[in-house]
Amino acid sequence: MSDSSLEQAVRERGISRRSFLKFCAVMAGTLALSSSYGTRIAKALAAPKRTPLVWLEFQDCAGNTEALLRSSRPTVGEIVLDVLSVDYHETIMAAAGTQAEKSKKDAIAAGGYLLVVEGSIPTADGGVYCTIGGRTAMDILSEAAANAIAVVAIGSCAAFGGLPKANPNPTGAKSVMELVTNKPVINLPGCPCNAVNLTATVVHFLTFGELPKMDSQNRPLFAYGARIHDNCPRRGHFDRGEFVRAWDDDGHRKGWCLYQMGCKGPVTFHNCPAVGYNDNTSWPIKAGHGCIACSEAGFWELGLYNKAKLQEFAPPSTYAPVQMPVQSLSPTTTAIVGGAAGLAVGAAGAAAYIQLSKPDKMEVPESAQAEKK
Ligand code: SF4
Repeated sequence: MSDSSLEQAVRERGISRRSFLKFCAVMAGTLALSSSYGTRIAKALAAPKRTPLVWLEFQDCAGNTEALLRSSRPTVGEIVLDVLSVDYHETIMAAAGTQAEKSKKDAIAAGGYLLVVEGSIPTADGGVYCTIGGRTAMDILSEAAANAIAVVAIGSCAAFGGLPKANPNPTGAKSVMELVTNKPVINLPGCPCNAVNLTATVVHFLTFGELPKMDSQNRPLFAYGARIHDNCPRRGHFDRGEFVRAWDDDGHRKGWCLYQMGCKGPVTFHNCPAVGYNDNTSWPIKAGHGCIACSEAGFWELGLYNKAKLQEFAPPSTYAPVQMPVQSLSPTTTAIVGGAAGLAVGAAGAAAYIQLSKPDKMEVPESAQAEKK
């Protein structure tokens, strides 16, 4: 597999060229590129190339690896990741012990690879809380980052420290970007990271030879550029003051807004409303639970059922008054009215993934396409 192009890999797996081209169009839409970039992506992915990948795991639950492996069917996205030659991934590789260590050593010596890091890195007491093969995670990360093209911090633990870094942080856990300062680092937070966003990041890298545009926290804008609240299907209920007040109450059964139950959608940037999880089967708010802000730094400190602090949703004077439900609301609640819509990115991603799940259609709707800024 490693010496073949993606196009060959697709054929070997019995996936039609039509599906391959559709995938490229979908990736263009997901990356907020115009439809013309679908052709460019197809051309780039069809070229023979072999980009090695070294995947390290430190203080983590392997949830990101699991999310990547637990797709219900082989997709072109999975094949994209297959075309990246996974030279070292201690969780899924067949080799073990000294053989595995040799694979890693050889890959690092050859250089030119993408380094994916899952989990935070303990730094307290000399880093003794995570050692592999007798070496600390700090030491292994430093060595592996030295020859990498770029580093992908996958999941919230690698991106921001995650649960290990939550107070009182007994292991002195740090994120990848706190320790790797001499290489480009891209953060793909989430608990777990959505495999779709890893695939799109890889496609962007293979197509353009660089990482996608990022925000101030090193998150790619295509996936973390829009607030969940602005694309949430329950947003209309927020704007009307229709809130779930208790699990399984009437509002919960009607699909009303989960803000009163601790939803952090108003302070969370992620494309969940557009791409969902598990082949877009569902995502927390769709399943009836509030967002826990898993793509934001320090989300463990927010309090799962504490209400998010709303600072950007003061009611504009031009808005109509909040529609009061039959039950009375608290003064705080009645002051909550939605801000700007910001639906474009979510609509693009949603349309793109709806397309991906339908084998008969190739085109990404015009409404789902936006020029790359
Ligand atoms: S508070 Fe949560 S459930 Fe309500 S509209 Fe915002 S994101 Fe959706």
